[in-house]
Amino acid sequence: MALLVQKFGGTSLGSIERIKAVAQRIKSSKEKGDDLVVVVSAMGHQTDELTRLASEITVDPPHREMDMLLSTGEQVSISLLTMALNELGTPAISLTGTQAGIITESAHGRARILEIRTERIKNLLDQGQTIVIAGFQGTTLGIGGIAEITTLGRGGSDTSAVALAASLEAAKCEIYTDVPGVLTTDPRIVKNAKLMKSISCDEMLELASLGAAVLHPRAVEIARNFGVTLVVKSSWDNLDGTTLTSNKKPDFSQGGIEHRSPVDGLELLENQAVVALSNIPDRPGIAAELFESLSEGGVNVDLIIQATHQIDSNDITFTVAENELHNALTQCKKLVNTIGGDISFQKDLTKLSIYGAGIMGRPGIASSLFQILSDSGINIRLIATSEVKVSCVIDAELGKKALRNVSEVFKLTDKQITVNPTIENNNEPEVRGIALDKDQIQISVKNVPDKPGTASTICSTLAEKNISLDTIVQSERKHKDKTKDISFTLKKNDRSDAKYALKELIGNWKGSNLEEGESIVRISAVGSGMPFTKGTAGKIFRALANQKINIEMIATSEIRTTCIISEKYGEKALNEIHSCFKLGKNES
Ligand code: ADP
Ligand code: ASP
Ligand code: MG
Repeated sequence: MALLVQKFGGTSLGSIERIKAVAQRIKSSKEKGDDLVVVVSAMGHQTDELTRLASEITVDPPHREMDMLLSTGEQVSISLLTMALNELGTPAISLTGTQAGIITESAHGRARILEIRTERIKNLLDQGQTIVIAGFQGTTLGIGGIAEITTLGRGGSDTSAVALAASLEAAKCEIYTDVPGVLTTDPRIVKNAKLMKSISCDEMLELASLGAAVLHPRAVEIARNFGVTLVVKSSWDNLDGTTLTSNKKPDFSQGGIEHRSPVDGLELLENQAVVALSNIPDRPGIAAELFESLSEGGVNVDLIIQATHQIDSNDITFTVAENELHNALTQCKKLVNTIGGDISFQKDLTKLSIYGAGIMGRPGIASSLFQILSDSGINIRLIATSEVKVSCVIDAELGKKALRNVSEVFKLTDKQITVNPTIENNNEPEVRGIALDKDQIQISVKNVPDKPGTASTICSTLAEKNISLDTIVQSERKHKDKTKDISFTLKKNDRSDAKYALKELIGNWKGSNLEEGESIVRISAVGSGMPFTKGTAGKIFRALANQKINIEMIATSEIRTTCIISEKYGEKALNEIHSCFKLGKNES
């Protein structure tokens, strides 16, 4: 007899008929002899509907009252599903997040789970009850805490389910939803998206945080950190779905379930070089030509960054291992001879990276990394961010000093530090999945001082408001007054808080101003074989160029390539990139 946690999402509970069908499914699982803890979301689009009601009263509802309101959605479904189970003769009892002992921090609307006090659940299981728990919610009633209802953030029921599975050491956590599992991309937009039998937690973390709504990124993070076997499958059939596995052993000594340091390790990669092309034409096809010719020349490009363009011209910067620099420059010169533009390069650089799970989801982490480097007087030549890794390219001679200071602040032991790791080709596909995120805006801070600490100040100002950034790009070119521009993307929901905080900050920088770009989407390809494959970026850029789609910004990290493009091309671009990697059914 095993303990299973099963989670049913809103679409699976959209009507009374569906609730009865879910009850039937739970009854069958129970009859197989397993113990069941069931986590549910609000019915259908109830959370959206409640949000809409609030917006008819105020544009800026207090976060506490929103939690009070939204948590009612899940309370409706736990009681109805429990009634349906009892009707079928399956003894069941419903529990709110508070009753289930889900203790969270006090950040309303985005609270992280600290611990789950499982005594009551375990007692009820011993009595043979099936327990139906409200997802997405918890309470601040920790030691000496005051009882306040909190919610975990939209899509957070997945996180409740996996956190329960980790705390109860369940054999498996099954997420039942309206698609057959994790697909190569969103099947609502790409009709021939294909089901994956399995996917690594790192790849899924990237996809989920880049817009693949099928799983809440924090659920994947907990599964990864606590070794929970996580399965995503359809509510409508009995097929296997997608399995995510992690070989980590649960370790509760590292702090709360979601309150542990996300930094698992630190890596230094020496002998790196940066090549910058500036003033190149801003039109579809230029990035494709550049990265295709680098790949033809046998150059394996690591990080790529393209800043927002300034009046018809662009800057593209990339890094390569120093021993590939000569080759890279030869290819760039050929291209610049035909299209125009300037080339510069810098050797003797080192890439310093911190890695783990959920790094960018905790904005304080990247900002303290930048802060440590700035306090150590180290200028960051280039930044690459992702959910599993943040990298900074810095001067080689400061590499060891950076390593010491960063490992001290993140309390890393020697075992967690690697210098020039030799990574073996894992023979994984260069691209496993593509995600489209329509929930981002693009902001540029223009004319910022070009000195150590500027990027760090921007990030820490936003981190203080709990705002996560992505696609952080510093422009190559300097303005006449020697200032630079820094651009990034952030969630639409954080727009007004971010602008408010940044306006105050840039008041200190003479001549600096904020600019919000046109409506954009973020499109990203993810695959753990990407670092071992030449030419992946070139293929993505070519797919976009073939559709005459201009790329506004490019940012990459180890296992992902992201392009920011105009909102109107999002779905077309998703279809195009998906088919260029032959990811669809009958395509491979
Ligand atoms: P639930 O209500 O069950 O939590 P969600 O709407 O949160 O369901 O998540 C399921 C939806 O995620 C699917 O209907 C699908 O449109 C979307 N989705 C986006 N990317 C993917 C992907 N890569 N694989 C599967 N579904 C995806
Ligand atoms: N009901 C919440 C939402 O719609 C939580 C969830 O469904 O996971 O965001
Ligand atoms: Mg969901």
